[in-house]
Amino acid sequence: MFIFDAHLDLSMNAMEWNRDLRWPVADIRKSENGLTDKPDRGNNTVSFDAMRKGNIGLCVATQIARYVHKSNPLPGWNSPQQAWAQTQGQIAWYKAMEAIGELTQITSAQELMKHINAWSQDKEKTPIGYILSLEGADSIVNLDYLEKSYEQGLRAIGPAHYGPGTYAFGTDSVGGIGRKGRELLKEIQRLNLILDATHLCNQSFWETMTFYEGPVWASHNNCRTFVDHNRQFSDEQLSELINRKAVIGMALDAWMMVPNWQRGVSNPINTNVTLAHTIQNIDHICQLAGNSLHVGIGTDLDGGFGTEQGPSDVDTIADLQKIPQMLINKGYTPEDIENIMHGNFVRFLTDTWQ
Ligand SMILES: [Zn+2]
Repeated sequence: MFIFDAHLDLSMNAMEWNRDLRWPVADIRKSENGLTDKPDRGNNTVSFDAMRKGNIGLCVATQIARYVHKSNPLPGWNSPQQAWAQTQGQIAWYKAMEAIGELTQITSAQELMKHINAWSQDKEKTPIGYILSLEGADSIVNLDYLEKSYEQGLRAIGPAHYGPGTYAFGTDSVGGIGRKGRELLKEIQRLNLILDATHLCNQSFWETMTFYEGPVWASHNNCRTFVDHNRQFSDEQLSELINRKAVIGMALDAWMMVPNWQRGVSNPINTNVTLAHTIQNIDHICQLAGNSLHVGIGTDLDGGFGTEQGPSDVDTIADLQKIPQMLINKGYTPEDIENIMHGNFVRFLTDTWQ
């Protein structure tokens, strides 16, 4: 089964974790033996080789760099210009991967169809396709920078990440989008970028939905009904997204899959977190929608966590191939499963770019 993963922080892993994604997962793990600078050292799950083994031939890959105001305790860059420069390092890595045939950037419906055909005919010889997205807009110094990013291939953007941002309030913060947020949304719409609703806090989410009329998806988001946290979407938010023809990607960060996760105490075994929880989230969205057209996969694997905080039945990203059989067992048809594993995001992109 061909798989589209709508959220992978590939360049962050390369540039901040110093992971060469051309190495197999096992080699990256070995190279991190003894490192303690980050909690997920040695627990990585993503590499190009593992993506190929899992037939994940297409993904949304991010640029990500937070700007923090002096009063903000979150980690981040002290100026938007530094955050911008960080994203420029990240795009330089994507371009270097393109130059050696590991990745290919997809920016149009025509390129998308060409890539899917090439992958189905000879996946060994076809680079992995990626659509460039920006997670959190703080690095957009002013709106001219958004157009520069568009020219570099950017096709999706989430206005916020964690905490208060320049253009919107994100996870674990409270506030609206303000004038700057509205101007950003106008520019997003003008450029026909996809708005990523993931990480918007409740207030910013609803203000965005009132103001914005362009294409919207949620690249990596689970359901609040299972884990009651502002990072998750309520049924009302999910219904709003469904009404706007959005697709919602299922995230594999364990704390978003099982309730009451405690960092450093909980682990995949003592919480019994597995892909069964992903199936539960998929099914909830399909029940809300009354069809299988609004849910996809957006794992966020290696997005600051590894196997210590992921489903116990996922050793590498290749294990996403377990999902189709689990959906069959749940009574899903082959057509539903194709929608969920890739079809919905592909249709969304084709509609947006036509
Ligand atoms: Zn995220």
